[in-house]
Amino acid sequence: MSNNENLLSIRDLTIHYFTDDGVVKAVNGINLDIARGETLGLVGETGAGKTTTALGIMRLIPDPPGKIVGGEVIFDGTDLIKESEKKMRHHRGFDFSMIFQDPMTSLNPVLTVGDQIAEVIRLHDKVSRAEANKKAADMLELVGIPAERINEYPHQFSGGMKQRVVIAIALACNPQLIIADEPTTALDVTIQAQVLALMSELREKFGTAMLLITHDLGVVAEICDKVAIMYAGQILEYGTLEDIYNNVCHPYTKGLFGSLPSLNSRVKRLSPISGLMPDPANLPEGCPFHPRCPQKCEKCTVKEPPNVEVTPGHFVRCHLFDNGKEG
Ligand code: SF4
Repeated sequence: MSNNENLLSIRDLTIHYFTDDGVVKAVNGINLDIARGETLGLVGETGAGKTTTALGIMRLIPDPPGKIVGGEVIFDGTDLIKESEKKMRHHRGFDFSMIFQDPMTSLNPVLTVGDQIAEVIRLHDKVSRAEANKKAADMLELVGIPAERINEYPHQFSGGMKQRVVIAIALACNPQLIIADEPTTALDVTIQAQVLALMSELREKFGTAMLLITHDLGVVAEICDKVAIMYAGQILEYGTLEDIYNNVCHPYTKGLFGSLPSLNSRVKRLSPISGLMPDPANLPEGCPFHPRCPQKCEKCTVKEPPNVEVTPGHFVRCHLFDNGKEG
């Protein structure tokens, strides 16, 4: 699952929340790799552990009650789990940045957008205020906002424009990795497409790697090179975009595709996956998907499935593939 070109390698990452009601097992031994310039889509339903994974990489898990209880997050050769808080602050400002679903959580309502972009530039480069302002204006233009709007405040922008400002801020420090958590979910559909196209264009221009968190397989198809399907804190299927879209293996991934409306499909009704994601404080024994799986057998209810490499780089965690191919 790894090569030397990887910018980010996650190994056996395990994150739990210790609450009065028990241990919430949010992330349970996941492995992921992102090469330089590559985009990985982390896909799953609400509560799958996607955002906890992102916060774990950034070392922003609220502690208590959260704790990274095991694993490694190797970024550019350094294990972030072992870094001091001071070094992590440096990484967060310089090496990676995060785009959240709601742009207002990232923007300061009392500062102009220009000041917010310039602030990041000045933290990163030792430049004068005037130079930082000039670069901030360039960044605004880059994300499709006229530079004349540099002295306006966040509330003067629409939702899509605000998210463009957030993207400008995220790119201003020229990070190697962007973690984008449902960056277009809060936007109208047409604006979503524009923001996605912009992210894709900028990613190519700057060669930035990206971890894109989403529940939307359509978004993944637009922009990702690799896909990880997450469920109950585990990665159930992992591979290239082609592996996942043309050779889908895991019953859960098949279920996700079955829930998608298709213009080409003659099938009138969608077939959503029945049931709900299990409570992470009370995960079922065996395969976490077994209560909802149409293909489960007795073994699935007692034994955790191994992570099987069905073709090079395509991993599936399901007993149907215990022998390397669908049984
Ligand atoms: Fe279904 Fe069993 Fe595979 Fe889990 S291991 S996805 S329950 S067939």
